[in-house]
Amino acid sequence: RNRPLFADVAGDIAVSFEFFPPKTEKMEQTLWESVKTLEPLGPRFVSVTYGAGGSTRERTHATVERIARETSLQAAAHLTCVEASRAEIDEVARSYWAAGIRHVVALRGDPPEPGTPFKPHPDGYANAVALVKGLKAIAPFEISVAAYPECHPESRNKAADLDNLWRKIDAGADRAITQFFFSPECFFRFRDQAAAMGIDAEIVPGILPVSNVAQTRKFAGQCGATIPTWMDRLFEGLDNLPAARQLVAATVAAELCGQLYAGGVRHFHFYTLNRAELSYAICHLLGLRPRADRQEQAA
Ligand code: FAD
Repeated sequence: RNRPLFADVAGDIAVSFEFFPPKTEKMEQTLWESVKTLEPLGPRFVSVTYGAGGSTRERTHATVERIARETSLQAAAHLTCVEASRAEIDEVARSYWAAGIRHVVALRGDPPEPGTPFKPHPDGYANAVALVKGLKAIAPFEISVAAYPECHPESRNKAADLDNLWRKIDAGADRAITQFFFSPECFFRFRDQAAAMGIDAEIVPGILPVSNVAQTRKFAGQCGATIPTWMDRLFEGLDNLPAARQLVAATVAAELCGQLYAGGVRHFHFYTLNRAELSYAICHLLGLRPRADRQEQAA
């Protein structure tokens, strides 16, 4: 190509941002600053992840409800089937609906002990398909589910994984958000295969701007994503240069987004890790600009 990747963006994109519930007051402050920085970009929704264990779950509820209460944003709550009965999960879903939360990211979740097989709660939802059905029986939630361009590690094969995605959409999910990936071709292949299976729901790429390769590699091993070897070389020698590392991270993620945009993608879901700058910079490169009225609201 003889024009820069971002020369032709039209600002016609939609975005969503994912956060995790903060553990400390300082982390809460960082999260809140990030939410306020990203709010003027007018994301379609922002979502808050859900962990195992009572205290982290309480933090998810509190964070989602605070976003719904104090911002103009649509807050989506992640919910998993892990270590809870159907009655308990249904109760959480009902309380979200009562608090005005209309969007759930419905997941099976991972066992609290990494590396062990998932064992459903004896009275629980067995998987994400069952959870989607359960949620739809409670209220007409908007529902997002997970998808895996490189296949879920527990799946027998790609066809079985796509069939599982088909069943989640068939059960009532509105869109799929993918696990992070670093090869645009991998996403396009997955999108084509899903379309060939008759999956007509939107498949939104999950974008993880990476600035710490070692940490990402550890995480990627558990979730079926590959870290390409070129990425190690890009970050070589930058351990003590955080600002340079951020610039490299933005460049790599922006390049991926630019290629996805060129391939027709118009909704991007950012794994923000509760930091605004990288996601903000990439949205800017993709042509997204804050609206004045939203800026006033965030101030
Ligand atoms: P499912 O869709 O139920 O599938 C899991 C695996 O089991 C797949 O391989 C599927 O093919 C297989 N499978 C399912 N049902 C059957 C069946 N009946 N027979 C045979 N095989 C079957 N985790 C959290 O704990 N909290 C979060 O907040 C969170 N947020 C996430 C957000 C996104 C966008 C993504 C992509 C993942 C997230 N995860 C989160 C991780 C997720 O919980 C794990 O990847 C988990 O291992 C699978 O969840 P799932 O909803 O994809 O499961």
